[in-house]
Amino acid sequence: MNGLVPAAGTLLLIGGKLVPGAAGVFPTVNPATEEVLGYAANAAADDLDAAVAAARAAFDETEWSRDHAFRAHCLRQLRDVLRANLAELREITVAEAGAPVMLTSGPHLEGPIADLDFAADLAESYSWRTDLGERTQMGIPSRREIRREAVGVVGAITPWNFPHQINLAKLGPALAAGNTVVLKPAPDTPWCAAVLGPLIVEGTDIPAGVVNIVTSNDHSVGARLVEDPRVDMITFTGSTRTGRSVMVGGAANLKRTFLELGGKSAAVVLDDADIGAAASYTAFSVAVHAGQGCALTTRLLVPRAAYADAVAAAGKAMAGLRPGDPTKPGTICGPLISAAQRDRVEGYLTIARSEGGRIVTGGGRPEEQPRGYFVEPTVIADVANTDTVAREEIFGPVLVVIPHDGDADAVRLANESPYGLSGSVWGADPERVDRVVNGVRTGTLSVNGGLWYHADAPFGGYKQSGLGREMGVAGFEEYLETKLVATPA
Ligand code: NAD
Repeated sequence: MNGLVPAAGTLLLIGGKLVPGAAGVFPTVNPATEEVLGYAANAAADDLDAAVAAARAAFDETEWSRDHAFRAHCLRQLRDVLRANLAELREITVAEAGAPVMLTSGPHLEGPIADLDFAADLAESYSWRTDLGERTQMGIPSRREIRREAVGVVGAITPWNFPHQINLAKLGPALAAGNTVVLKPAPDTPWCAAVLGPLIVEGTDIPAGVVNIVTSNDHSVGARLVEDPRVDMITFTGSTRTGRSVMVGGAANLKRTFLELGGKSAAVVLDDADIGAAASYTAFSVAVHAGQGCALTTRLLVPRAAYADAVAAAGKAMAGLRPGDPTKPGTICGPLISAAQRDRVEGYLTIARSEGGRIVTGGGRPEEQPRGYFVEPTVIADVANTDTVAREEIFGPVLVVIPHDGDADAVRLANESPYGLSGSVWGADPERVDRVVNGVRTGTLSVNGGLWYHADAPFGGYKQSGLGREMGVAGFEEYLETKLVATPA
């Protein structure tokens, strides 16, 4: 199935039909070249309303939510049709999201497609009904059964940083659980979502209205989805600030809100660790995809006595990672998504300097990339944990290095953040490491480089990093209601 994305642009998917947007089109830009790639359908309020109506009808008037085997079949079809179009999807992902092509064989594309299997398998294997046994109350013996059912119409609102990962990590479990979905992707990556439209229509048996895709460059379309009383649940990934307004917008009808938000995670290096290796690894990881990852460990906490060595090791690792053309197989650090995002990152570098931070490496635009929204991987030393660049999420390839005075102090610093998404601990003594792991208040932790990311591993945040978990059985159950049925025994 070639030519999915015509050069002219994409369409919305509403009620099983591919339709233009009532607000015309908007451009989508290649962040590595600043060229307009083409156009995406621009949804207006009426399109959104029609998409919600279609999702509502598909949920209320079809057997979708009750036919578990059919949903598994449809999800496997979706996996297969995505795989059959990998080359074109890869091209779009690199061009539109600035994703290093190397990462499209993992978390940027092929990983999330493979993860649809986990969702499909759960639709078939999940215990939808659980017998609670008999109880007698007021002389009436009753047999009780717990039934798990889909929540209903789910509004999925997603960001631009890992578009396929996040779109599919919402579609997979939401559909597997029996919901119908209106997907509202970020204005910066409309094509990555819109390509799903023709694939679903032409390559799967997913019934009309079960998936609706509404691209728009107007954030108020997302807000309208949140406020619509016909929508039972919002699953949102994005910034903590927008997450707050999603909670407020959904409160009017007490909507279930599932939030995956920002982070400012800490890499805690203990004094018995290989400090140079830990610092280099952390610096390298923060430069991947130009630091546009919510769970990256952007604060490196190192023993005070080893501070200079750690700063030097991090600086050396970062200096060796030049940002480059994402279509090249060796590129790890591509461009930022937009001029606005580059301005934001550069604004933080200005703040760092004004707060007395020392730029160890990077700190500007790479000379060898005159076009594109590139920023050099940057290490900042001599900032306090309470300074702006150590406290706020920058969402660029920027690492701050902060000294600690022992394990307890390191835990205190790691937790001295409004966020609690992720982190890492580096150390040789398992008991000390375990005490630190117990002390750090975050949803995921890596120990000595262990990788927590997988379809079966629940991911999410403590504190202002979110509510609920994505992926794993816990992530699937976010999309379920619980019904208790009692009958006379
Ligand atoms: P954003 O919050 O600006 O936008 C996210 C989505 O929300 C977009 O689709 C946008 O159109 C929509 N939106 C904006 N205002 C809205 C409103 N008032 N109501 C409803 N929807 C609205 O985030 P972004 O800049 O696209 O993405 C970057 C952020 O996402 C970072 O903070 C990052 O940490 C976070 N993120 C979190 C995770 C996670 O799983 N925790 C994963 C990836 C990204």
